[in-house]
Amino acid sequence: MDLRSGAAFWPINSGLLTTYPALTQDESADVLVIGAGITGALLTERLSRQGLNVVTLDRRDVARGSTSASTALLQYEIDTHLTDLRGMVGRPNADRAYLLCLEAIDSLEQLSRDVGEGEYFRRKQSLYYASSRRDLAPLREEYQARRTLGITLDFLGAGELHERFGLRQPAALLSRHAAEVDPYRLAHALLKRAAAAGARIYDRTAVTTWHEDSQGFVVRTERGPSVRAKWLVLAGGYESLNVLQDLLPHLLPSRPLAMLRNSYALVSEPLELPPFLATTLVWETSRPYLYLRTTADNRLMVGGEDDAHANVARREKMLPRKRRILEQKVGKLFGQLSLETAYSWAGTFGETPDGLGYIGAHPRLSKHLLFAMGYGGNGITYSQIAADLLSAHIQGQPSADAQVFAFDR
Ligand SMILES: Cc1cc2nc3c(=O)[nH]c(=O)nc-3n(C[C@H](O)[C@H](O)[C@H](O)COP(=O)(O)OP(=O)(O)OC[C@H]3O[C@@H](n4cnc5c(N)ncnc54)[C@H](O)[C@@H]3O)c2cc1C
Repeated sequence: MDLRSGAAFWPINSGLLTTYPALTQDESADVLVIGAGITGALLTERLSRQGLNVVTLDRRDVARGSTSASTALLQYEIDTHLTDLRGMVGRPNADRAYLLCLEAIDSLEQLSRDVGEGEYFRRKQSLYYASSRRDLAPLREEYQARRTLGITLDFLGAGELHERFGLRQPAALLSRHAAEVDPYRLAHALLKRAAAAGARIYDRTAVTTWHEDSQGFVVRTERGPSVRAKWLVLAGGYESLNVLQDLLPHLLPSRPLAMLRNSYALVSEPLELPPFLATTLVWETSRPYLYLRTTADNRLMVGGEDDAHANVARREKMLPRKRRILEQKVGKLFGQLSLETAYSWAGTFGETPDGLGYIGAHPRLSKHLLFAMGYGGNGITYSQIAADLLSAHIQGQPSADAQVFAFDR
């Protein structure tokens, strides 16, 4: 699967931070992690810190899949409103999902500091504005629902929103709890620490097949060597969806586990930004939504304009037009801001029907085959939750929260 088109900012900005060898001889481990993006990196770091013998494989250079394309806003706010999610998965699970995302931001902050990337983790507040007057009533209900969870946020009417942020929108929710990271640097730093703790990391090594026997899994790679492991963790990003569909060909196409789309992003040349952006992430109620953050060197990073499909040829053709639309939307939102795009790119993006990822074993597959599929706008916070839930499961102390992200929730 082609996960990215165009020029994603993070790997250009930081270059090839660390290289790993390809797998050239057989290996064995307690846990084999397939995928060394942000999800695989968080898992590898956690499991090796817990003293497990871990091997991690990636078919690309590490962190060069969707992690490179990510705009990496960290939010507790799931793309599905809490009010809607309660109707979809029940109130206890919906509430827990929101609170777990909130906690995941704190954990990512601590980890970023621990691996020396604290400079690139920046605390922010999150401004979620109503795109039209039609969205006012649902936004008020959402405000009340989140307050019942003890989440700190304000409801801003049009006047206050204009006065404090200069935006002419009908209303907004302002949440205190959000952040942004450089996902590429963070994944590299986590893998480096995992390697220092004993994890063996191999890139440019694609997993082709595996089978399970009485002693665990035997996993074959395209280069020939195999890996034996008791646990197999699939952290293969959006490519895991095809693997799951191959393992379960009788899944109903009319009820897909997830939908893959193209999503577009750009980053500007450094510029003088409205001061509030230094402390605030911005997104909106419209779907697909426009969203904005800044970088450490004062660029504006903008994303949105998702397609309803994941066709790669069409996204490559559409990229210049989508870039112009994003530029125009930012211009309209801020009035005077003159933005020069430095890089633009598009990536595959996965969404589930309720906006929650899938984390854990599938009830119809091996109990030792674990999935970390953090699909949705909160992909990176889900990756952190996957590291928490799957490491607890492997250590024989499964968390009650596993049900929130279970395949059969
Ligand atoms: C444009 C865009 C903007 C986004 N913005 C945000 C955002 O603001 N906030 C947020 O939280 N999330 C965001 N996301 C989502 C986020 O980027 C993803 O959730 C996250 O990067 C997924 O990380 P991952 O490690 O699971 O996947 P990946 O980074 O894709 O890593 C999976 C790895 O598995 C490897 N792999 C797959 N199959 C095999 C195999 N058979 N053998 C060996 N290796 C294999 C791949 O090579 C890949 O490197 C965005 C995504 C896009 C595309």
